[in-house]
Amino acid sequence: MKTGFTRFGRFIRMAKQAAAPTVMACMLSAAAAGTAQAAQAEDVRKQGWEALPEDKKEAFREGIKQIPDEVVELHRLEGARVVFVDGLLCPNGGDGDPCVKGLYWHDDKKIELAISSNWSNSEISTAAAHEFGHFLYFQTYIFWTEEEKAQLAAEYNYWKQYSYDCTDIEETFAVLYSMYRGSGEQYLSDACKAMLGGAE
Ligand SMILES: [Zn+2]
Repeated sequence: MKTGFTRFGRFIRMAKQAAAPTVMACMLSAAAAGTAQAAQAEDVRKQGWEALPEDKKEAFREGIKQIPDEVVELHRLEGARVVFVDGLLCPNGGDGDPCVKGLYWHDDKKIELAISSNWSNSEISTAAAHEFGHFLYFQTYIFWTEEEKAQLAAEYNYWKQYSYDCTDIEETFAVLYSMYRGSGEQYLSDACKAMLGGAE
């Protein structure tokens, strides 16, 4: 559940892209107007979907409903895919980087999800929300206020004490987003929820 490993170089290049802001502006205003609705699996550009067992498809359908349709729609409009992989994802063949349940790739905004029969439905839901959290963070970061950035930095300093997954600012956002859109909202402060909701 970590980002691609060339993130800083990719991020700088992505921030310079001029294409996204127009789309983002209308997405953000739609979200601000409180029109967010649950996303549907049909809204996602999928790869490897047909090969999934029906119970895993259902787990993803349930998981994606946690996420506002604006976020998933933007991912699709960006031409990005969710790729379902049988078994673990091992970047670098597991050499140095541990195997993970999900990956977010900066260059094409691809989300990879490991769909093993060993994973519970809630693990699949959490991994999907986590990786969409990475997408949301990198799509919106350049629009954040200083207060929102400071809030995320404070959350990182707090949560790194309790979660091994909160290894940096970016991972912390994804971890908190999966809590916010999953079953962990009660553990988040109002300021944290405002920061996460603001990104949407
Ligand atoms: Zn991650």
